[in-house]
Amino acid sequence: MFTTSRLLILKFGSSVLRSETDLPQVVQEIYHVWRGGNKVLVVVSAFGNTTDTLLQRAYNLCKEPEPIALANLLATGETTASILLGLALNKAGIATKTLDATQAGLVTTENPLDSELISANTEYIQKELENFVVVIPGFIGKDSRGNTTLLGRGGSDFTAIFLSQQLKGHCILVKDVDGLYTSDPALVESQALRFSKVKWETACEIGGKVVQSKAVQFAASQGLSFTIKSINSNEGTEVGLGPDQFFPLKPLTLSKENKHIKIPTCCVHINLENTSYNDLYNPSVPPIYQTATFRQTSATKFGAYDYSRTANPTRTLLEEQLAQLEGGSYASAFSSGMAALTALTRLVKPGEEIIASNDLYGGTVRLLNQLLTHYAIGIHYVDTSNIAEIAKALNPKTKLIIVETPTNPFLRICDIRAIAQLAKNAGVLLAVDNSMLSPCFQQPLRLGADIVVHSATKFLGGHGDLIAGAVITSNAELNRKIAFQQNAEGSGLSPFESWLLMRGIKTLALRAEKQNISARKVAEYLNNHPLVKKVYYPGLSTHSGYDIHRQQATGDGAVISFTSNNKDFSERIVQQTKLFSTAVSFGSVYSTISLPYNMSHLSIPLELKNQLAPPSDLVRISVGIEDVEDLMEDLDEAIRLALEEDATPLLAL
Ligand SMILES: *Cc1c(COP(=O)(O)O)cnc(C)c1O
Repeated sequence: MFTTSRLLILKFGSSVLRSETDLPQVVQEIYHVWRGGNKVLVVVSAFGNTTDTLLQRAYNLCKEPEPIALANLLATGETTASILLGLALNKAGIATKTLDATQAGLVTTENPLDSELISANTEYIQKELENFVVVIPGFIGKDSRGNTTLLGRGGSDFTAIFLSQQLKGHCILVKDVDGLYTSDPALVESQALRFSKVKWETACEIGGKVVQSKAVQFAASQGLSFTIKSINSNEGTEVGLGPDQFFPLKPLTLSKENKHIKIPTCCVHINLENTSYNDLYNPSVPPIYQTATFRQTSATKFGAYDYSRTANPTRTLLEEQLAQLEGGSYASAFSSGMAALTALTRLVKPGEEIIASNDLYGGTVRLLNQLLTHYAIGIHYVDTSNIAEIAKALNPKTKLIIVETPTNPFLRICDIRAIAQLAKNAGVLLAVDNSMLSPCFQQPLRLGADIVVHSATKFLGGHGDLIAGAVITSNAELNRKIAFQQNAEGSGLSPFESWLLMRGIKTLALRAEKQNISARKVAEYLNNHPLVKKVYYPGLSTHSGYDIHRQQATGDGAVISFTSNNKDFSERIVQQTKLFSTAVSFGSVYSTISLPYNMSHLSIPLELKNQLAPPSDLVRISVGIEDVEDLMEDLDEAIRLALEEDATPLLAL
């Protein structure tokens, strides 16, 4: 359903690609990652000690070989390995393109063996990655005169990490062992030092005249993390580099086959295996652990759970499911959408600033303006459907950008990918409130957002019978902070509501699909109605953000807004509907109709009303799962009755 995929840059050095006989194993490794739905760029070194052998042969012929001749000679080793790997991948049915140094555009400074990578042909590589697995020899570059030159020992590590920075992909160094060693085998074997156990500076020194140290330093300077894993292992260690530290971040798990579980399946099947959840009787539907405390086995040893404010097995299951649905790694469930948003905004400290959509849920505006401002947190409201406005509002104090897309009630579209890029470059967090579409139609984390927030009261719960919220992320550190808030402020979702929400989620895909189809029909009906002035619905091709929306979402949701140019007429329509109940909220199985100005957005503070409140003639409806013909008849009848009371709108036609 979702086409966004990760770019993974796999680097195979001579420790795993010793000779041609290692090719099948390497092909298999690449196959798994490729089948997992990722774009794959492969960086290879020469087989085994080919480079050393070639070097020796050159020195046998003359004491001081000319650098260009030497570079040309050594490059044959890399070229051979990359071409053979390319052939093997194509043979295995993986469409592959092998680029040479010129095509890859790896241009270096003038001094071979002591060079620094300064550029790459990123646009070209990116284009090829759309259709191919791309293989690049990692040791060879060109100098500014176009001569072949060498990047130095560990040059392929450098190339891979450099390209991960340029192409915004994640680099995985595939080794024969699970850990990063310097590329000088003699030194490593004698000292038996694991890179990950020592400070990177020290490790760089041990590396001697190799550029692997530069690769590591480069990553550190760019704040990049990369993963080290051994061949044939699903798991690796992601490492991050601080100014004085080299530390493991989190385990990486590569799915062997395409394990991208589709949303409807994920809604129904709760993954019981990967959780700390463990039930004696194996119930098909997990029970509600309606308990405040958990007895511990001793006074000093704590079990998985001790107190339900901190964690409860029923809530844990829900949180794992929410993370899976959004394509994230972690989730925290809250007692409401507002509690989730509160925990999110706690990431922002006094003196820092938030940039928020100027078309946000009214309760969010109330939180930002009437609570956060007490803590000296600055709030800027901008039209987040306009990337230039966000860029203009960014400043060194900005910590967080909060957007909804589609927004509510105007259904404006924000370009999540573009905002994520802007935020990343500025070192700012991007949170997307995904309540309007649910993960069925849009998964912001896969588009680059750092955090997803939900009012689970809406689509996720879907039955209008519970209040709940969630924060989802793939960032372990952010998750730690959010979970800390959840416990410290006691805002976690109760076991019963967690269970009820899981029950609601089971039919999420069915409901969302049906509501999406019906909403489109209703939107078209309204769009053709002579008394309706303007319809806001992202599924209409005339909608302002239509193209961007189509690139980031697979559905349009159930919410439609429209204006009539006449506040009283709008009010009468809302009062006259029978199937559409007059109620706030949306995303439920039953259809609702409301006047946001008087209802959901009433909480917008007076001083911001002009800037942020919707017009008073704007009607918002949420389409439920009732028969769509009945729904359209209900609206038609309501408009007719509203007109009967006062025919003024007809005169304005
Ligand atoms: C309803 C809503 C909220 C608030 O959620 P509650 O569960 O009502 O606290 C936040 N954001 C959006 C977009 C909403 O629609």
